[in-house]
Amino acid sequence: MSELTQVGVIGAGTMGHGIAQVSAQAGFSVVLYDVTTAAAEAGRAKIDKTLQVGVEKKKVTPEARDAALARLTTTDALEALAPCELIVEAAPEKLALKQELFAKLSRHCAPDAILASNTSSLSLTEIAASATHPGRVVGLHFFNPVHLMKLLEVVRAFQTSDETIARVRGYGAAIGKELIVVKDSPGFASSRLGVALGLEATRMLEEGVASAEDIDRAMKLGYGHPMGPLELGDLVGLDVRLAIAEYLYAETGSPTFRPPQLLKKLVRAGKLGKKSGEGFYRY
Ligand code: NAD
Repeated sequence: MSELTQVGVIGAGTMGHGIAQVSAQAGFSVVLYDVTTAAAEAGRAKIDKTLQVGVEKKKVTPEARDAALARLTTTDALEALAPCELIVEAAPEKLALKQELFAKLSRHCAPDAILASNTSSLSLTEIAASATHPGRVVGLHFFNPVHLMKLLEVVRAFQTSDETIARVRGYGAAIGKELIVVKDSPGFASSRLGVALGLEATRMLEEGVASAEDIDRAMKLGYGHPMGPLELGDLVGLDVRLAIAEYLYAETGSPTFRPPQLLKKLVRAGKLGKKSGEGFYRY
């Protein structure tokens, strides 16, 4: 079993660049892949910016920033991930795309390299089925923004080996995250609970139980949540929330996950939350 020194990250978007950043800061050599050089470089630019903010806030020393950036390379060639002992995939949330990537990675990478997916809802067991050695496939579900959120939800596919779990525990500790290990099941632990709360809050708004502000304040002031469920929906993206709700509803049949009409209407009207300038709130 090779020691973990090199980490590959697939997708340099919201999550991928953050995963690359925390890995480089923890001392791993990191190869950040995206489909175009421009996308990979945009990921590096975001890391550069976040680290700079860290330096300004005196949370990161200039030396640590420079060292982290020096450990990071970007690429648009999947083969460049071949030397990595751990690869974390953070490509778009599409099962077929992830399965294709895991099949390709199985060909390029060492047989004992760990292949992880940052999927927030898809079945790890189905993703693992596309790999040559499914025992080394695992879910590493990070939270946004990756450098600030403490939780790392490790998702154990039906096929994941004990050795893989032990190795990702080591990686999680090295990057300073708190781990929970959950069985592969729809929505894992975090999305299942988070989406249930967000959908119920949406139904309450639809029924006129209270204003969006007051529903959010109920959870912030009454339960100590840092953000209310509606604000959080706007941040995540209402299209993303709807897609997860539809998936969970199809998988479980539970009315808890039936997408509320209000959520569908907002998405159909292009009101996707913060990224589009309006969702439950205006920005
Ligand atoms: P994003 O759209 O910000 O980034 C996706 C990146 O993947 C882009 O840079 C894109 O260029 C790249 N990409 C597109 N096609 C690709 C391909 N064929 N191969 C490799 N890369 C490709 O998305 P994101 O929000 O970072 O989400 C990525 C994954 O992380 C998804 O599975 C999502 O469900 C999961 N996730 C997202 C969040 C979140 O809050 N955004 C939180 C947890 C998990």
